[in-house]
Amino acid sequence: MDIYDIAIVGAGPGGLACAIKAQELGLSYILLEKGKRIMQGIIDSYPRGKKVYPTIPKGETEPFPIDDLEPNPENEPIEEYLSKVEASVEKYKIPVHLKEEFQDIVKERNQFTIVTTKDRYRARGVILAFGSNIPGDLGIYGEARTVARNLDNPEEYLGAPTLVLGGGNAAADVVATMSKTKRAAGDRSTIYWGHRREHFKVDKDVARDLGEEILLGGNIRILQGAIPQIGRVDEDGVERLIIQTQEIDVGQGVELHQGMSFPMKHVIACVGTQGPAPLFERLGLQQITCTAGVCKISKEGTQLLMLTPDFQTSAKGIYAIGGAISPTYILIKEEGVLKEQKHANLIYFAVKDGARAVEAIAKQKSSDS
Ligand SMILES: Cc1cc2nc3c(=O)[nH]c(=O)nc-3n(C[C@H](O)[C@H](O)[C@H](O)COP(=O)(O)OP(=O)(O)OC[C@H]3O[C@@H](n4cnc5c(N)ncnc54)[C@H](O)[C@@H]3O)c2cc1C
Repeated sequence: MDIYDIAIVGAGPGGLACAIKAQELGLSYILLEKGKRIMQGIIDSYPRGKKVYPTIPKGETEPFPIDDLEPNPENEPIEEYLSKVEASVEKYKIPVHLKEEFQDIVKERNQFTIVTTKDRYRARGVILAFGSNIPGDLGIYGEARTVARNLDNPEEYLGAPTLVLGGGNAAADVVATMSKTKRAAGDRSTIYWGHRREHFKVDKDVARDLGEEILLGGNIRILQGAIPQIGRVDEDGVERLIIQTQEIDVGQGVELHQGMSFPMKHVIACVGTQGPAPLFERLGLQQITCTAGVCKISKEGTQLLMLTPDFQTSAKGIYAIGGAISPTYILIKEEGVLKEQKHANLIYFAVKDGARAVEAIAKQKSSDS
């Protein structure tokens, strides 16, 4: 297995800046993106036609660090910005591993093993450029975790019962779209719609689409109080998700649990997004919890990642940049002084952080050799 100088997680402006800089400095890298396209985070969150502003925050004196990633000063629409960036990726021949989701990092002496949904890679450094929209955790334990987060292709779910998890608009929308596709194909297999609470919260328009599906004969079964419990691999090697659907108290501290088990490939979890703090915690990266005395900008209870001026985390060799560390982090100043550092979620910062982290990795590499 090759050992890369850097494993870059996320192909947004931050991750792409890392790749371009790494190429320029002659470092080897692997770039992992969970979406179907580069910039998937932006594609998923910007409205169509939105203008992209090349904002440089007040107090910043440097120009945009990488021209290819700078939005046009005329505030071009998002579609044009994406085409320009895609052309640059082609120009630099940047290899991007699309549809490959980063899952974990295992530290092994002077290097890391990066675990994804498809493979494992070895690298001396890791840059976390996964932005700020990290999918909500299903809260399950066990060895099987891979579940779809949205409905890319409804046809993939034809012919098999499917479980959609979540109590909001995104889940309702997936249920309605899938039901429509199944009806059109004459597929009577059930769509189970599970939510851990009793009440579902959906907007009128979404509720109307869903009601229409039910009236037109969509085979939808609602599971209230459905709690995802365990991800496991069964004896046939199939990854499965077990959900608890009922809990009955039979006295003397004994409970009777009823549940269902679905192949993970037939589960779609629309459980919203959260900031990256829980993920940083799972990776063992040191964060500070804000209290009134410690933080002036962030709310009490917010967890802030600790970073050196080069964006290195408390784990030597692991860096975090861009949206993932916005809007605030804790800067470890050279002399060991900690400072709550404002960091606007802007393309400019994502690109600048990426370039700086890669320069630090290059410097470290040359001092090691
Ligand atoms: C509606 C909206 C409008 C905005 N308008 C502007 C603007 O006009 N100008 C401006 O400067 N900024 C704007 N921003 C902010 C700007 O988009 C962000 O600052 C920038 O995208 C951050 O870049 P990033 O690379 O850090 O993260 P992202 O762009 O979020 O990229 C992260 C990438 O990582 C991928 N990823 C996530 N998790 C994983 C994983 N586990 N494995 C593999 N890949 C993963 C995601 O799919 C994504 O492609 C806007 C933001 C929003 C939401």
